[in-house]
Amino acid sequence: MTTAESSLRLEVTELLQELIRLDTANPPGNETQAAELLRDYLGDNGVESELYARTPERANLVARLPGSGGGPSLLLLSHTDTVPAAPAEWLVNPWSAELRDGELWGRGALDMKGQVAAEAVALASLARDGFEPAGDLVFAACADEEVGAGFGLQWLCKAHPEAVRTDYALNEGAGERLELFGRPFYLCSSAEKMSSPFRLFVRGRAGHASVPGIADNALVKAAPLIERLAAYRPELRLGPETSAMIEAMIGEALSPEEALKVARERDELAAELLEPLLSLTLSPTMIKASETRNVIPHLCTVDVDCRLLPGQTQEEVEPVLRAVLGEGDFEFGWLEGWGGTRSELGTPLWDAVASFVDRIEPEATVLPVCVAGFTDSHWLRDAFGTVAYGFFPSNAMDPQVASRLIHSADERVAVDDLELGVDCFRHAALQVTGG
Ligand SMILES: [Zn+2]
Repeated sequence: MTTAESSLRLEVTELLQELIRLDTANPPGNETQAAELLRDYLGDNGVESELYARTPERANLVARLPGSGGGPSLLLLSHTDTVPAAPAEWLVNPWSAELRDGELWGRGALDMKGQVAAEAVALASLARDGFEPAGDLVFAACADEEVGAGFGLQWLCKAHPEAVRTDYALNEGAGERLELFGRPFYLCSSAEKMSSPFRLFVRGRAGHASVPGIADNALVKAAPLIERLAAYRPELRLGPETSAMIEAMIGEALSPEEALKVARERDELAAELLEPLLSLTLSPTMIKASETRNVIPHLCTVDVDCRLLPGQTQEEVEPVLRAVLGEGDFEFGWLEGWGGTRSELGTPLWDAVASFVDRIEPEATVLPVCVAGFTDSHWLRDAFGTVAYGFFPSNAMDPQVASRLIHSADERVAVDDLELGVDCFRHAALQVTGG
């Protein structure tokens, strides 16, 4: 390890510790603390930034190394808010930023202050090196990703589009190293499913629970509807990212049925990864009926978590779901519809991610994935057609351990992965905006 590398390692560790020590749990967020810390850090390294806030305590920070002209622009995107933490469930104080055995503990270490710090250090160190990009190199640390109440990137894209409009963007979403079919892969997310939950309102007639014969129990009537949803096997289909994923994993183009069969036979983890990407998913998760034990409910509501494939619409899916549910005294209503966008593969940013992976582990391949959850990449794709990928490389921490720690107790990040992240974002910036 050279001195320059080890000093970036220390720099990113210290910046992340400072970020974790600021409580930006959302609600209420208070992300301005983080924006000001980043503004001071970047300013000390000769990078100007601008704070954009819909309300003073919830600022978004945007910093820029302006391009000399002509080249494509790249945004290093992140969010500074976190989900809340219950200290009683943790082994350490979630805001103490303790270092233990090469890992930095604290709320937001993985989601996603670690990436905030790695992107900021990449930008600051490139500026110190005198890097002059051809296209703009932009860094945006946004508020309010976890709740999405309109203070973060969604608002920024509308109110200050010139600040965040870029050709390419790297954000959260993936980057973990997995072994599938006995070979190493790094996941890079290029698409997101649409969060599209719905509610069933099942109607009956109230009555005293001691005389069930005179009532019409809405809870009982909901049962067969739930069973029909559980038994439904949606049609499988392949989007471009899932086709590319199957080819990279299995080595040949297969139908979704064949790919799933091969994965189930040969690699359980690959099957788990693949299955939800081949169709919409449905999970009934919440039910509400009578508030009182001795009153038969006249209404029962069932909430179903539903995620559509990118490009699939509620208009297209609703008649299919109605046919699955069949006849009955119920109404069907969508609760919301968020996300569901994708970016193309095979772009200069994709090549930058692939060449980085090739450099750190030549036997490994980048695997495109569609993620099940929503990220801020959606707003960029939606507003500007930005090619946005989720990639924060990690190979030090077991990916299954890491995925359990996100949004839960004892969240922590390996310092080795922070250093890898700085290296990755420097590489991507040089490749994409370097001219
Ligand atoms: Zn996040």
